[in-house]
Amino acid sequence: MKNLHIDELAGSVAKILPSSAVDGPGNRSVVFLQGCDFDCKYCHNPETRKPCIACGFCVSHCPAGALKLSDGQVLWDRSRCTDCGTCISRCPHSSSPKVQQLSVSEVLDSLKRYIPFIRGLTVSGGECGLQAAFLTGLVCSAQERYQLGTLIDTNGSTDYSLFPELVESAEGFMLDVKAWDGTEHKELTGAPNGMVLRNLDYLAREGKLFEVRTVVVPGFFDAVQTVREVSRVLVSCRSQARYKIIAFRPQGVRPQFRSLPQPERAFLEQLANLARSEGVREVVVV
Ligand code: SF4
Ligand code: SF4
Repeated sequence: MKNLHIDELAGSVAKILPSSAVDGPGNRSVVFLQGCDFDCKYCHNPETRKPCIACGFCVSHCPAGALKLSDGQVLWDRSRCTDCGTCISRCPHSSSPKVQQLSVSEVLDSLKRYIPFIRGLTVSGGECGLQAAFLTGLVCSAQERYQLGTLIDTNGSTDYSLFPELVESAEGFMLDVKAWDGTEHKELTGAPNGMVLRNLDYLAREGKLFEVRTVVVPGFFDAVQTVREVSRVLVSCRSQARYKIIAFRPQGVRPQFRSLPQPERAFLEQLANLARSEGVREVVVV
């Protein structure tokens, strides 16, 4: 990475998974960065949304004594933690006491022994684009040190055209387009979608779009319009990206949103056929 030593970069890291089969093609390590600027009703990782404010509420609920409050900070003892998830489910601030500030080298060193067994790295979140400098350092270093390609799993709120080194070095982007209509997008996520749609076009034209995803929640947005318009952008940009159409599932979702409606399989297939009829090369329903 130009002009900056990578160990000057610290990232707010929610979690590192050495191995995953569901975060891109093949077996991949996944780095989840903390912090997100969207508030999606169907968020499956709500604890990655906000910084820990060290309120201390979770400390007394840890059954393993792995947390303590010291000098206004929550300290997490990894050796005691049983990964029971109590702290995360009890946190009233959409956070986790297990978030760490790590350098690029610390992240890559923690994955070193798994590298012979993985096909690549995926960086997710939270929203990883909010830490664009750290993300760039991680992507470039994974490539330089280990010839490891990185996929970036993003909500598209960051203007990636301002980060050409990141775009050039990444293997590709996995972009969520949650709704085509701006008002519906705001209702679903609390945020506008102008930048998301600009990124869709930009990354598709750059040949860097690996996958677009739309989560389908019946009645919450016009899924037919979203799939049709996204498909038209992919085809007009000659993108080879696949379109993944995802059924809303309540697992991991905050309690107040777990009863959102789930789509029928027939409706998902109808959307997939629409994308195919528009000319999208590969469409999957999950
Ligand atoms: S993780 Fe949540 S409950 Fe625990 S100290 Fe941080 S903000 Fe408070
Ligand atoms: S997951 Fe949280 S509550 Fe459970 S043992 Fe670890 S630190 Fe304690």
